[in-house]
Amino acid sequence: MAERSHVETCVWTLENLRETPRVSLKNSTLLNLTLFTLKQTPLCFSSYSSFLLSKTKKIFKMITKPMNVLTTKPSPLSTMVVIVILCILGFYTLHFPHSPSPPTTSKSLTHMESLFLSTSSNSTISSYLRALTMHPHLAGTKPASDTTNFVLNHFTSLNLQTHTTTYTTLLSYPLRSTLSAHFSDGSAVNFALTEPGGSGVVHAYHAYSPSGSVEGRVVFVNYGREKDYRLLGLMGVNVSGCIVIARKGGDLGRGTVVERAEENGAAAVLVYGESDTWRKGFERGHVMRGIGDPLSPGWAGVDGAERLGLEDTEVLKRFPKIPSMPLSAEIADTILSSLGGLPLPLQWRGTLRSKVRNVGPGPTLLNFTYQGEKKVATIQNVFAVIKGSEEPDRYVLLGNHRDAWTYGAVDPSSGTAALLDIARRFSVLLGSGWKPRRTIILCSWDAEEFGMIGSTEWVEQNLINLGSKAVAYLNVDCAVQGPGFFVGSTPQLDSLIVEITKKVKDPDSEGVSLYENWTATAGGNNIQRLSGVDSDFAPFVQHAGVPSIDMYYGKDFPVYHTAFDSYNWMTEYGDPFFLRHVAVTGVWGLLALHLADDSILPFNYVTYANELQLYKHMLSNLIDQKISLHPLTIAIQEFASAAEEADAEEKKLRLQETAGCFVDMKKRALNDRLLLAEKGFLDAEGLQGKQWFKHLVFGPSNDPERMNFLPGISDSITRSSGVSERERLAAIQHEIWRVARAIQRAASALRGEFT
Ligand SMILES: [Zn+2]
Repeated sequence: MAERSHVETCVWTLENLRETPRVSLKNSTLLNLTLFTLKQTPLCFSSYSSFLLSKTKKIFKMITKPMNVLTTKPSPLSTMVVIVILCILGFYTLHFPHSPSPPTTSKSLTHMESLFLSTSSNSTISSYLRALTMHPHLAGTKPASDTTNFVLNHFTSLNLQTHTTTYTTLLSYPLRSTLSAHFSDGSAVNFALTEPGGSGVVHAYHAYSPSGSVEGRVVFVNYGREKDYRLLGLMGVNVSGCIVIARKGGDLGRGTVVERAEENGAAAVLVYGESDTWRKGFERGHVMRGIGDPLSPGWAGVDGAERLGLEDTEVLKRFPKIPSMPLSAEIADTILSSLGGLPLPLQWRGTLRSKVRNVGPGPTLLNFTYQGEKKVATIQNVFAVIKGSEEPDRYVLLGNHRDAWTYGAVDPSSGTAALLDIARRFSVLLGSGWKPRRTIILCSWDAEEFGMIGSTEWVEQNLINLGSKAVAYLNVDCAVQGPGFFVGSTPQLDSLIVEITKKVKDPDSEGVSLYENWTATAGGNNIQRLSGVDSDFAPFVQHAGVPSIDMYYGKDFPVYHTAFDSYNWMTEYGDPFFLRHVAVTGVWGLLALHLADDSILPFNYVTYANELQLYKHMLSNLIDQKISLHPLTIAIQEFASAAEEADAEEKKLRLQETAGCFVDMKKRALNDRLLLAEKGFLDAEGLQGKQWFKHLVFGPSNDPERMNFLPGISDSITRSSGVSERERLAAIQHEIWRVARAIQRAASALRGEFT
């Protein structure tokens, strides 16, 4: 354990004293004052500190006398001594005003942790959520800019330094849609494409779907995966020219469902979510390929920036060519139960809840029209900055998006309410004298629902600074969707997550930590990885290589992106007492406190090496024996030994953790290597066909169900059309070499030495 300085000992003694029940309110106020002044005092006056220590011990003896003495009023002697101490401290503080502030100690951090946790308030979070969800706030609309002002005013009212960044980007809105069915018995129906109680909510649509009018026979395509189409092909069902209906699920994003339908020759695609409740809800969403503003791919769409034309091939390739739309479970059932043709394959029956018995095509005919408009709109990100005291040029980023398809109580306002509460509680900490070692930025993103546009434009705009100075990005989107804790991260942050979740109370079980309930339910600390492209962590991890975390309570909530995602749903089903909100906020805030204040970054690359080893093992079961994994084996060994060296260096530095420039510089040097290592996994060329995605370990693959890691290798395994078997094997081997080189780059960054 590190040796304490005298002043630190005084602080420690007084802090413990303050927490003893025998200290009266008046004495505790005096103690707080003394503590505050002590913390402002330079470290270097050791003789003076010794004097202070002896005085403190005397006060300690005096004020820990029995309760009855203290509950009346402080003795004149103790008051005198404290006043004398304050005068002397004031003298020294005034005469040495430019001395450095003492470094954050593990003890003071623990105090800040408990102060942070003790200031939680479920009623405050609930009031934020109520205010945020009064109106739907779709990106690019007037209610969205009201929400922007609400968040900005909240940060400003807490005296936090704030600013906004503005972009003009291409968004997409519906104008008109109709759907009618003509059944084999001659009857017909025009479906109402609205949700009850959804006044003021945007019509159900898929953003960036092309306009179009299609008449065709219906085919049910299960989840719309490549293997579902293959199975239909084997059955002799041709979807060419048909309107296909897909159920949501199967690890496929909405955009990919549309892409697969288009590749298989469908004329249009309708997507519904299976649900036993909320069957009248339509799941809105975008179907654009890639992320960020389509008119400024790879650079920020700021005012006056280069902008591609709508007919540019780079822009056109981002949009589907066939129209699509969401369907409610109720309408989907009406159509699907009328299908004839071949019976449903056995493989699809297990989890299917809809009343579908045959896959079609037809005999039911659908007539579907969608008209929409793509529109350049202004979006705004809002930031609150808490400047670091010792390493202001190192950044811990906490982010959540603000725009919603509808009222957005779960998505994203539960996360926004949590972010607002983090701001409030950090301002309480600041008021108590806390100054984070590193800079903390709270980020409120716009237009996430249109393809992570606000965060992506900002990442593109700040790429170089993010690469060299961002310690970590902590994302919370739908903070609370229901019961159960879920978290994903880049693997060097696993240990920190485990440590922090042990410190936060579980919201659903009395007397246990969040960690205990989470691991008991999930069968271990089931930390996911960030290969998905479904929230604002994606540009940070997959484009900028920033170590990141994403977390939430609950999964697959039934009112996702529908008009029913309201404050009432949250209070009735999602989190009636807002205790899950409190838990997420607790974890989020403590993660930020550690990342901002720990003198050595709490990163563990040994865990990362183990994860890579696991991927190599899983890969060996998926590939042909002719392919060599030897380059990966060598690279992972190199990375593992660099990780162990970094770990040993960290332990050694902790032992030497006495104040002094020399060690401080060593810590800073180690921290820089720890934060740069993740950048090693980036590759300038990016993933084949998806060049914007630079991370070779985590990123979108074409078949995430089979392999949701090493996306370049995964795609080379599944890419079979148009290449000979020899070419396919060569492509897989090449991707393995690319990943091996990336791992070696990460190892080299961790070691920090030239060859
Ligand atoms: Zn969201």
